[in-house]
Amino acid sequence: MSVPKGVKLTPMLKQYDYWKRQYPDCLLFFRMGDFYEMFFEDAQKASSILGIALTARDSAREIPMAGVPYHAAENYIYRLIKAGFKVAICEQVTEPDGKNLVERKVVRVITPGTFVPADLPMESKLAAVRIKDKVMYLALLNCSSGRLEAATLPEEDGLGLLCSFAPSELVIPKNLKEDTRKKLLQFMEPRIVEKDPDDFDPKEGARRFCSEWGIATLEGFGFQEDDGSIGAAWAAYSYLRETQFGVVKHIKRIHKSHFSSELIMDYSTQKNLELIEGDKLTLFSVLNRCGTPMGKRLLKEWLLHPLVDHEQIRKRHDGVEKLLQNWTELQRLREVLSSCGDAEKALSRLGMGLGAPRDLGVIRDTLGVLPGVMEVVRGAFIDEVLDIPGDPRDLRAKLESALCDELPKNIKDGNVIREGFDQELDSLRYLRSHSGEELNAILEREREKTGIKNMKIGFNKVFGYYLEISKSYLDKVPQNYIRKQTLVGGERFITEELKELEEKLMTLDIQIEAREKVLYESLVQEVLENSSTIQDISDFIATLDVLCSFAVKARECNYVRPAINDGYVIALRDARHPVVEEALGSRAPFTPNDVLLDSYGKRIAIVTGPNMAGKSTYLRMAALLVIMAQAGSFVPASKAEIGIIDRIFSRIGAKDELARGKSTFMVEMVETANILRNVTPRSLVILDEIGRGTSTYDGISIAWAVLEYLHKVCDGMPKVLFATHYHELASLADSLPGLFNLSLAVEETEKGIVFLYKLEPQPADKSYGVEVAKLAGVPEAVIKRSMELLRRFEEERNFKELGGEGQVDNGVKVKQLGLFLPEAEDLVRDIASLDPDNLTPLGALELLYKLKDRA
Ligand code: ADP
Repeated sequence: MSVPKGVKLTPMLKQYDYWKRQYPDCLLFFRMGDFYEMFFEDAQKASSILGIALTARDSAREIPMAGVPYHAAENYIYRLIKAGFKVAICEQVTEPDGKNLVERKVVRVITPGTFVPADLPMESKLAAVRIKDKVMYLALLNCSSGRLEAATLPEEDGLGLLCSFAPSELVIPKNLKEDTRKKLLQFMEPRIVEKDPDDFDPKEGARRFCSEWGIATLEGFGFQEDDGSIGAAWAAYSYLRETQFGVVKHIKRIHKSHFSSELIMDYSTQKNLELIEGDKLTLFSVLNRCGTPMGKRLLKEWLLHPLVDHEQIRKRHDGVEKLLQNWTELQRLREVLSSCGDAEKALSRLGMGLGAPRDLGVIRDTLGVLPGVMEVVRGAFIDEVLDIPGDPRDLRAKLESALCDELPKNIKDGNVIREGFDQELDSLRYLRSHSGEELNAILEREREKTGIKNMKIGFNKVFGYYLEISKSYLDKVPQNYIRKQTLVGGERFITEELKELEEKLMTLDIQIEAREKVLYESLVQEVLENSSTIQDISDFIATLDVLCSFAVKARECNYVRPAINDGYVIALRDARHPVVEEALGSRAPFTPNDVLLDSYGKRIAIVTGPNMAGKSTYLRMAALLVIMAQAGSFVPASKAEIGIIDRIFSRIGAKDELARGKSTFMVEMVETANILRNVTPRSLVILDEIGRGTSTYDGISIAWAVLEYLHKVCDGMPKVLFATHYHELASLADSLPGLFNLSLAVEETEKGIVFLYKLEPQPADKSYGVEVAKLAGVPEAVIKRSMELLRRFEEERNFKELGGEGQVDNGVKVKQLGLFLPEAEDLVRDIASLDPDNLTPLGALELLYKLKDRA
């Protein structure tokens, strides 16, 4: 309840209360002149979140009030949205006349998924999901770019896609099962919007889209009318429409998500590999050389969704190569592109009725660079690899002739339409600009008539134009002058004639504003009619920008074009980790290494080496280079060949889950299970230290079994990089032909060990754990004691390997290591099962010979 009992409300506050009751779950921004005011509870909440003053509307301080200036509202709304609130904007819809209460109305509701601010670089993403029988019907709507995508896909894959989209708001059916809901929300925290399950009906959705867009069927976009994802798409779209009160004019098509033509990564893999998220360096931040906001968005998109069709990938590589060969053109392109604003976002804002003259300006500038861009593109023959958009020449010419160079934020500020575009506006402006002359004429006449030579003319807000006369001439003031103000040195007067002129000028202002508004709105209308072409142009510019960025980065850092094919080999020569390389900078060079994974041959590498030797870096490097190559980029290597990878799985570290309070081991096993269930012949699997979350023996056993499984599954095709501390696993290579050992070299010097980061084709000979501890600054006494213990453990192990049971320091017994010496284990079991009482002397002798053979 927003109004406490007993508080007497003025008519205006009654109006406030009425609207607040209509939108109880929103903070109500109530427009009062140049401010949005909030009252009661809303005011208290907003003042504490925004740190703005909490005042009161009344002397008894029963009506708390807090306000934000209208022109800076966007920033405040942004902070409230981030804090989890929705905001309803209640505007004044009639002009104040000083007598009657101004009418007000809620015109828009702002939510996290639908907020498209003009000046903040935030992306607003909305998704809708329905899940049935393990199938996910998914719609992704990026309100900033206006792109609507839909997909029907297996639940697990859908989850990966949804998480990588990272919606700030998620529309789900009311009856979604609790455990499904939990699963959806395990990696993200969007605001949830519940809708009636009927709102997800695909047939109804298709019918409504068709009537909304005036088309007969959605088949042109590649959708059957009963495709469940259309239901989800409608749920998302209609929610956006509700918040915008029906004004959504820029979304006119629906894209089929190219899910089956993408390299799939689950969400934890995307995070593990630090593709785009994070404050530190990420793959995106290292590769990004884009000049436009649209290019940056697309680069992220490409890195999260690399391609799997080698023709398409080759096209992107061709583009990069051509740009590299035409360096002068590339530089020209980058220069031209840098003057493009965010045309996609500008179009979205105009389409949602939020637009401003500057948004039109952005579209004009973007259309304006198109001919220049096309010329360069053709010159460098890159047109063959790009989808060339249409050129809306008429619209471009019109925007160029209609809009002023510098545009205001608000249509009300005027000076939007250029001189010479509209006769009516020109003649109104002519009258206004000549009003100065008319005022001067009046002044001259009055001076003449009265003989007051130093009479001045001026203007103030209270009583408009006036004549100012100094004290010494006051006796000459004629009868018809009306006194308005007394000053120290004189007085101010108005006359009938001045008043008349003033009224004429004021109506001129109103007329000019109205005319500009009509012209502006017709331009907006025309832009929206061309929205599909403008979106194509934005896509084109973004694509070009990303290709340029790839080329620039390739040249800066010596990347090479990877050969992509449908084979099953990965061969990266002298590969470097792009992010670690950048992080090392000039401090140290990155030591390149090869990644060689064969098709049927050696395809599972067990990577050993001490802590900090570079194992994780090596694993991630392999995955990142595959992602870069299939996203269209060149790669940091001296040579690269990649047989298309369709999935990358990873199990690396456990920091993030720990923060969420789950058991490390449980998380690890859930992820491992997911990998084993979904692995494909074209998968690349990266496992870093799996089994570490549990006791050593469990850990090794699990790791061992996982490797055996991966060696066998999918006809033994998946490629695996497995980093481990467990040196015991190295011996697996003897029994599984697809496995091979690698290790990261270290050098033992007098001063301790030195990491060489160089890969060697054999397992590490020991773990160097104690040496690493020394490097890390662990006190000398502790190091000494660990050395001593290590020696004893090793002696113990030698003893155990001979079948004995060990006794370690302080009398702690160590279980036999039999699990990892199968022959010895069998032997012990066989001996234990003997019954000597029932053995003949000859039988005993025979047995002794057999046992000797097995030894
Ligand atoms: P591990 O997984 O074996 O514990 P990391 O892969 O985390 O080791 O590597 C530790 C650090 O070593 C990295 O942060 C990086 O600074 C450095 N490093 C790793 N690989 C290389 C390399 N090939 N060349 C240069 N420095 C490297």
